[in-house]
Amino acid sequence: PQLANQIAAGEVVERPASVVKELIENSLDAGATRIHIEIDKGGTKRIAIRDNGYGIAKDQLELALARHATSKIASLDDLEAIMSLGFRGEALASISSVSRLTLTSRPENQNEAWQAYAEGREMNVSLKPAAHPRGSTLEVLDLFYNTPARRKFLRTEKTEFTHIDEVIRRIALARFDVEFILTHNGKQTRHYRVANNEKQKQQRLSAICGSSFVSQAVHIDWQHDSLGIEGWVISPSHVQTATEIQYCYVNGRMMRDKLINHAIRQAYQEHIGQQQIPAYVLFLTVDPHQVDVNVHPAKHEVRFHQSRLVHDFIYQGITSALTPADI
Ligand code: ADP
Ligand code: MG
Repeated sequence: PQLANQIAAGEVVERPASVVKELIENSLDAGATRIHIEIDKGGTKRIAIRDNGYGIAKDQLELALARHATSKIASLDDLEAIMSLGFRGEALASISSVSRLTLTSRPENQNEAWQAYAEGREMNVSLKPAAHPRGSTLEVLDLFYNTPARRKFLRTEKTEFTHIDEVIRRIALARFDVEFILTHNGKQTRHYRVANNEKQKQQRLSAICGSSFVSQAVHIDWQHDSLGIEGWVISPSHVQTATEIQYCYVNGRMMRDKLINHAIRQAYQEHIGQQQIPAYVLFLTVDPHQVDVNVHPAKHEVRFHQSRLVHDFIYQGITSALTPADI
């Protein structure tokens, strides 16, 4: 099993930031409202994610570390309509095959916490009692210690941490309802507090995208049938100062998508003659039955069943925000 898991790890775990992404997504799937991310040496030495989610019962710990053990999919229909972030049941098995991973967890209704550790070729899981509040901590030590070929591709501590920071920025933009605390080498570098109202949302947006983005952006909120688009685009009067911020989410997942980019570009081109794509943060909601997200293991890609419709909808949404009153 270890070899199979290491092969799967090649698809899921490219670098420390991919581990952080998978673990945070698990915490979010577990309903966490506060997530601590502790990083040492760009994540190559240690990644620890602590959450206050539902936790994992003692008798489920072994299953959580096994491949394809996910219970998030009950039927084919679920697969099409899946809304939770993780659904392939591969992440923990893959990560533990290329690191020293421990999982400590306590569900609300369990008096003591338990810690699981998978070791050896057969990935046998050993359990021992531990202390932990409700929730889970995943600790990943010495990433790629047993796969030198992959370790060779790691960049400097600073670069790897920059990738981690970026992953957290993207997630924090999608989840204003969750608190995120990031430390690197023992020093707190980010703290995104829960944002309940517009003012607090603007504060988080400003912390992540910068105050100039916030002051130059116009708000979009556009609905049609089962489609919705919400977020911020740089106002036409500021397109010259467009930044690198181009964040798009489809049903809460971050996506880099050609169709979406094209629709945005077209809207800007036709309405203000701007070639460059300006900065934006956009949240698209689509009927989950109308979208496939399983096309790539890293889950960055999305396929819309009615792509023309979605394209035109985004185009119209952006156009609506670029009103003449704004120029
Ligand atoms: P997937 O997320 O695709 O189901 P993973 O390998 O990422 O697969 O996780 C395996 C399982 O472990 C999850 O389905 C979930 O039941 C459990 N799990 C992982 N992380 C957490 C967490 N932070 N809190 C609660 N349960 C978790
Ligand atoms: Mg997962």
